[in-house]
Amino acid sequence: MNKFVVYGVIVLALLAACRAETPTVTPRPNRLARAVSPNALVVKNGMVIDGTGAPPILDGIVVIEENKIVAVGHAADFAIPPEARVLDARGGTILPGIINAHVHESMSPLVRQFYFLKRGVTSVCDLATPLTSMKRAPLRSEYGLAARVFFSGPIINKPLGYPGTEEFLYAVNNAEEARRAVTDLVNRGASMIKIALEPWNWKLPWYVAEREPIPNLTLEEVRAIVEQAHAHGKLVRVHLGTAEMLDIALDAGVDSIEHVPLPRLEDIEFATDGRAFAKLSPAYEAQLARIVKQKIVMVPTLDRIVTWCEGYAVTEARKRLCRQYALTPVRRFYQMGGVIALGDDSTFAMRTWMPLAEMQRLLTIGMTPLEVIRASTQTAARVCGQGDTLGTLEPGKLADVIVVNGNPLQDIEALAWVSIVIIDGQVVVQSK
Ligand SMILES: [Zn+2]
Repeated sequence: MNKFVVYGVIVLALLAACRAETPTVTPRPNRLARAVSPNALVVKNGMVIDGTGAPPILDGIVVIEENKIVAVGHAADFAIPPEARVLDARGGTILPGIINAHVHESMSPLVRQFYFLKRGVTSVCDLATPLTSMKRAPLRSEYGLAARVFFSGPIINKPLGYPGTEEFLYAVNNAEEARRAVTDLVNRGASMIKIALEPWNWKLPWYVAEREPIPNLTLEEVRAIVEQAHAHGKLVRVHLGTAEMLDIALDAGVDSIEHVPLPRLEDIEFATDGRAFAKLSPAYEAQLARIVKQKIVMVPTLDRIVTWCEGYAVTEARKRLCRQYALTPVRRFYQMGGVIALGDDSTFAMRTWMPLAEMQRLLTIGMTPLEVIRASTQTAARVCGQGDTLGTLEPGKLADVIVVNGNPLQDIEALAWVSIVIIDGQVVVQSK
């Protein structure tokens, strides 16, 4: 045999051996592909808005195992085995379940199933319930799965305080009783504590002068409540219909302000030249700045307040003043960097399904759609004391996920078109 042929055979054999020993050069379909468990539930083919305020992921994916989210990212980065259950978002938007941080009359599992969960609201915070209806509500009742409910139980207040709330009043006479009330409510399952600092017996808007002072908690008592609640790891949420008693709430270090602390009339200058917003006094703005500085969340329940005020307004001009009065403080608070959570104060009689009216009001004060979604997910979970487990699409969080048709960043009303609802890793709505 010719020696060149022999050398040629040896070289070819060596090359073949090298190739066999270097499998790493073999190209893979995706060098970064993350393996998805065959037991996983996967939602893909949609834009992901994770609830943190981060920009959306255009071709996103959410991977769920058991009742937890295990991964969120770009669909191209994941290798999905054929055994995994895949839900197709059909080009819609994948979001955390919406959380309504301020509702009433939601303790019935049927209400939470049909009025909330099926419409994409996976959690609610009930901010005033009678003692008798304080029961830890299981996710699944005899009727099926329902939205999660976190509740405060009765409002802690002075005897005869805040008329109209007698049905859910936990009356205390001093700081010691206030501390005991907090512990009692926590033992009965309260996820948070609610108090009211309402100076007047007024159910009418500011221009109807029927004001009669009513009993209220003192600073010392509110401090005792905050201290005791925080010792139990619970937040204190305070009803503040006006700014009259705002300083007490701020001095005591409460965690959230419910409704708009409406300014005194001497602190607001209404615009009569067609502008949408009024002018606030430096003194009132200083109070708003304190709320911001103390990182207290505001749950303005704007739509409820505007609707209530407009209900008494006969003329269009008066309705405009109602809007200025409620919207201006929240707008300034937002501009100052204040944190806002969504809650619509809805009762059974005025259920709004997805709280779109409140979302529209938050857009009116200048929030972006992405910020409104964050207020309705991450921040709402935080103010309900559930920030560690709910409110965002992040690994480790409970798998409460919805899909809506369309893009809510372009039109918030897209949130009305819910096509998929998952709660605790279980699919409860899947439109055909
Ligand atoms: Zn309320």
